[in-house]
Amino acid sequence: METQNWLLKQASTQPDKVAVTDGTSTLTFRQVKDQVEQIAGKLNQLHPGPRVGMLADNSIESYKIALAILCSGRTIVWLNWRLADEELQRQISDSSLAVCLVADSLWQSTMDERFVSYQGLSNSTARRTALIPSFDYDRVASIMYTSGTTGAPKGVLQTFGNHFYSAVSSALNLDLTSDEEWLCVAPIFHISGFSIIMRGLIYGMTVRIVDKFRALKVENILVNEPVTIMSVVPFMLKKLLARLTESHRHYNHAFRCMLLGGGTVDRPTLVKCQKLSIPVVQCYGMTETCSQIVALRAQDALRKLGSVGQPLFTTQLKLSKSGEVLLKTPALTPGYLNLPEKLPAKMVNGWYQTGDIGHLDSDGYLYIDGRRDEMLISGGENIFPEEVEQVYQQYPGIDAIAVVGKTNPEWGQVPVAFVVSQQQLDPQKLIHFGYQHLAHYKVPHQYIKVSSLPTNASGKVQRFLLRQQLS
Ligand code: ATP
Ligand code: MG
Repeated sequence: METQNWLLKQASTQPDKVAVTDGTSTLTFRQVKDQVEQIAGKLNQLHPGPRVGMLADNSIESYKIALAILCSGRTIVWLNWRLADEELQRQISDSSLAVCLVADSLWQSTMDERFVSYQGLSNSTARRTALIPSFDYDRVASIMYTSGTTGAPKGVLQTFGNHFYSAVSSALNLDLTSDEEWLCVAPIFHISGFSIIMRGLIYGMTVRIVDKFRALKVENILVNEPVTIMSVVPFMLKKLLARLTESHRHYNHAFRCMLLGGGTVDRPTLVKCQKLSIPVVQCYGMTETCSQIVALRAQDALRKLGSVGQPLFTTQLKLSKSGEVLLKTPALTPGYLNLPEKLPAKMVNGWYQTGDIGHLDSDGYLYIDGRRDEMLISGGENIFPEEVEQVYQQYPGIDAIAVVGKTNPEWGQVPVAFVVSQQQLDPQKLIHFGYQHLAHYKVPHQYIKVSSLPTNASGKVQRFLLRQQLS
């Protein structure tokens, strides 16, 4: 199945509508098309092959170059600029990249000839070229590596069809109107950011791009500009919340949805948002499903605090006997790059096993408990590290904490905590605190002080590395 090229469609049906703005520059769909044609000409002259890597910042330039790659019939390979050099090289060779385009702000003089800066690309004198007229739903639009929270990152193939169904399902859930303006501060090399760009094209919606997350800067935008939706991960929400508590300001009256995904968030944070009238809508998804596939509706946000909602229109969901979230959705990846066995191994009778454990309430709303592989079983009881960590994050003096299971002859496994703190912490007091807030079997037996926790390039804690330290 194929569809008209989304950019061409928007440029012909609503040429003067603003497609993208960074607060200083603004481009309409007609202007985007015009400039993307020029970039596509330069790209063709470079002969980059069918896949083009991007080390992108959140900028209008990155937005246009990404569209030029898609609209010249190529696949974008999104690379995370926070990766260590060795990880980056591994992903470049895994995806057989001949060319990787690098934002000028990320350019390093040590980069070899495969890397071409945006400036280097724009220096080319090549002529503009016509854009491909249509997008094939089965063609891979983007390759995006998973965060690498549970092991090595895997390259997820995302087709135009995956992006389309993701965007349409999300629109049906959020009751989108033609006046939406979606703030994109999530990195565009993650699905949380790139999906906003794809939605912009599919809905014909304005994307407000922000280069880096700074709480004050984002607050100023939400107060002063007509942004209606923003995607956030838990750490961004907490920073915005802390600012708003101090500033006593109000976001613009049209702002109606803070879409929160990417990880669990503690209940006190959600309650605070409620008190400050921040319209948080939780959602759940992963790189493999091209963004959210389960989400709350805004009107349920308060009633179902803590839930990630119900499956979106095109998604079917059920839980396995062990509580694992199973999905059927047209937004699901056709597979992982160079790992042909990996996706089939996660499929059972047509259902995709997400690796996440959750539960449903009597109305069918989903709550995510944690990851299957990180759950520990102590004396026959299940323990999710996230729950224990969220309790201890409230303990004065604890800067960061991660909980993992340690083998124990009596209980099978017991929880052990790795703690980052500037202070001397008394283990007896820590245990006592745990007993006040948690079932006793969930309270860590040991508190190991460390200077920092291992995190991946997305900022998620890699508990598997901590487990390795214990064995
Ligand atoms: P890897 O697959 O390489 O280990 P990852 O799973 O962290 O990395 P992503 O695709 O970026 O890579 O993250 C998706 C995961 O994030 C989900 O499978 C789930 O575990 C977690 N997640 C996403 N949204 C939520 C949410 N609202 N609540 C709890 N967890 C969430
Ligand atoms: Mg994953």
